Amino acid sequence: MRANVPRGRIDVHTHAIAPDLAAPGPGRWPTVERTADDAADILLDGALYRKIDDRCWSARRRLSDMDADGVAAQFVSPIPVTLSHDQPVAPTVALCATQNDFLADLCGQAPDRLFALGAVPLQDVEAAVGELRRCVLDLGFAGVEIGTVVGTTELADPVLDPFFDEAAGLGAFVLVHPVDQTLDPRAVALGLGFGLGMPSATAIAGAGLVTRPPRRPGVTVCLAHGGGALPQILPRLDKGSSLDRPDAPPPTQLARDLWCDSLTYDAASLALSAERFGADHVVLGTDYPFVVREAPAGAVLDHVDAALRQAIGRDNALAALARVSPASRR
Ligand SMILES: [Zn+2]
Repeated sequence: MRANVPRGRIDVHTHAIAPDLAAPGPGRWPTVERTADDAADILLDGALYRKIDDRCWSARRRLSDMDADGVAAQFVSPIPVTLSHDQPVAPTVALCATQNDFLADLCGQAPDRLFALGAVPLQDVEAAVGELRRCVLDLGFAGVEIGTVVGTTELADPVLDPFFDEAAGLGAFVLVHPVDQTLDPRAVALGLGFGLGMPSATAIAGAGLVTRPPRRPGVTVCLAHGGGALPQILPRLDKGSSLDRPDAPPPTQLARDLWCDSLTYDAASLALSAERFGADHVVLGTDYPFVVREAPAGAVLDHVDAALRQAIGRDNALAALARVSPASRR
């Protein structure tokens, strides 16, 4: 993908949603109801999920914040509660299309600074491939965002191979993001969905990917939140793998095909992520515009050396964008 990104940092982990998102049919769906010109509520099955403001849908507002924060560009993805991988196929297909049309309009207002990651109905791999192709080939997106699990299907399940193969062919950036509604109920019951449930869900998804034969070299799979708990547990996965599958490559080796974002809130954790995935596979992420966001963007990078700061803060994201090559697939 050719992009003339201005000078500054590139934040690959931000979210957006339309202020008038409607349910795609009867059932348990996310919707958005506007409460003021610059405010709205996200509802899930009619109940309040999160209060949001116009940073979620206003390009002007986002660009103003980016300028204040030294952020040249954002990758903009759906809010995970909307991914709906465990819902009926047909309405999810419609919901994804609606969200992607919104993201195309939002990011089209600043095409050198806002790069969309679309939604795909991953519970139907053929439909997901179709929407992935529409996102990248027709709408000019950088890639897509997916959850850590699809109903009861792990990302490592071969049934999803056609999706990852297509993503590899397109050079698409695939952000793997945990979803509140699919977290371990034990973590949720403890009130620790954010701090424990999300990194655990990401670790399980990533562990599945690195303990199976690598079947899609080259696909840019980026685990949110520094890879969750995966960096910490990789040596233990190696030990288990050496006993169960002595001829298989160690998970630490396969992990170097994966990417992660920098959203760890901690320099030591970020250093471990860079050690596990490779210094060229870590990209800045903040969770803008939500309350949990890292502010200012890339604050953790103040505590790493200048070369790694430059790589994570900008250069690796530019390399990821350069991988997106829709023209070769037309
Ligand atoms: Zn996020």
